[in-house]
Amino acid sequence: MITTGQSIRCKAAVAWEAGKPLVMEEVEVAPPQKHEVRIKILFTSLCHTDVYFWEAKGQTPLFPRIFGHEAGGIVESVGEGVTDLQPGDHVLPIFTGECGDCPHCHSEESNMCDLLRINTERGGMIHDGESRFSINGKPIHHFLGTSTFSEYTVVHSGQVAKINPDAPLDKVCIVSCGLSTGLGATLNVAKPKKGQSVAIFGLGAVGLAAAEGARIAGASRIIGVDLNSQRFDQAKEFGVTEFVNPRDHDKPVQQVIAEMTNGGVDRSVECTGSVQAMIQAFECVHDGWGVAVLVGVPSKDDAFKTHPMNFLNERTLKGTFFGNYKPKTDIPGVVEKYMNKELELEKFITHTVPFSEINKAFDYMLKGESIRCIITMGA
Ligand code: NAD
Ligand code: ZN
Repeated sequence: MITTGQSIRCKAAVAWEAGKPLVMEEVEVAPPQKHEVRIKILFTSLCHTDVYFWEAKGQTPLFPRIFGHEAGGIVESVGEGVTDLQPGDHVLPIFTGECGDCPHCHSEESNMCDLLRINTERGGMIHDGESRFSINGKPIHHFLGTSTFSEYTVVHSGQVAKINPDAPLDKVCIVSCGLSTGLGATLNVAKPKKGQSVAIFGLGAVGLAAAEGARIAGASRIIGVDLNSQRFDQAKEFGVTEFVNPRDHDKPVQQVIAEMTNGGVDRSVECTGSVQAMIQAFECVHDGWGVAVLVGVPSKDDAFKTHPMNFLNERTLKGTFFGNYKPKTDIPGVVEKYMNKELELEKFITHTVPFSEINKAFDYMLKGESIRCIITMGA
């Protein structure tokens, strides 16, 4: 069946209202326009960011909307001007992009593309501001330019990473967001040397991916810090060797860690979003060489306060967006790490549901039961 240049009717899980279960609808997906590709999504997974914008407690609500940004699929057709992708390519859509032309894309150090950097407020495509999704002519908003809770979606080609066609999409789909954020925070930014100690603050999906990075880097000790002790059992499978629950101690956690490590850890990665944890993660690194990396997204009015002496004593504080990976250039290499058996993905996948039961994936995440739940399209 030739679909190129025509609208496709397919199933999508539409969020009509904040916090209400998604509804399976038949939607029309318009053909891709200039610099866009239409992708047949095969697997998608649920990330906290979807839940956060679906709950719409902290931002301007934008509904009806099709959420979803961690996914794997196959290119169905490409729009005008797309030269690096073609129908049949196996791809991961990514919530942030790489235009290839801006100062950030030209810089080796940055992945914060001017054109395609994450934009949570945008509900249409960059090319014309319009949506490619509709129901009976009524437009449905996009989310992060990806909207993967649909059997077909349209994405800017700068937000599409072409990957090894042999890679199982039901596993590598998780590489498109949380996994890479945590992994890259450790491997690309904290850069522990073999045998060094690493503290991970927050043992959710992002923190566990940061721990996986520490394991791959050959860290000798991986110290997990979390207020929720239930996270600790699971974290053992991710190579976390020791645990600290700040609630179990009378002294500041920085001091607890300094005592455990003879003066401080070599590297720390903060994956909580709590500003207290950010300060602790910085102050617990060893003077002279310690590096702390912030990943968590703080609240609007937070301020980071520490004594400047902590910097003068040669501690370094860094922050990262999407683990410093450039989506198109670097993400195919993360998939290769999995193919080479260097990176373990299976342990992150705790649940699987058919597309028709996508709301269950929300329940698992809200109850804190899942790390990642894979949603199988066409099922
Ligand atoms: P999560 O909620 O699953 O995990 C966070 C963990 O931190 C929980 O286990 C919680 O108990 C723990 N925690 C909270 N406050 C703490 C404290 N003060 N001390 C110790 N532990 C504490 O979240 P997640 O999905 O793993 O995401 C982690 C963070 O990463 C979030 O803030 C998220 O917004 C952020 N994030 C950042 C980027 C980026 O590019 N920088 C990308 C994706 C996610
Ligand atoms: Zn760019």
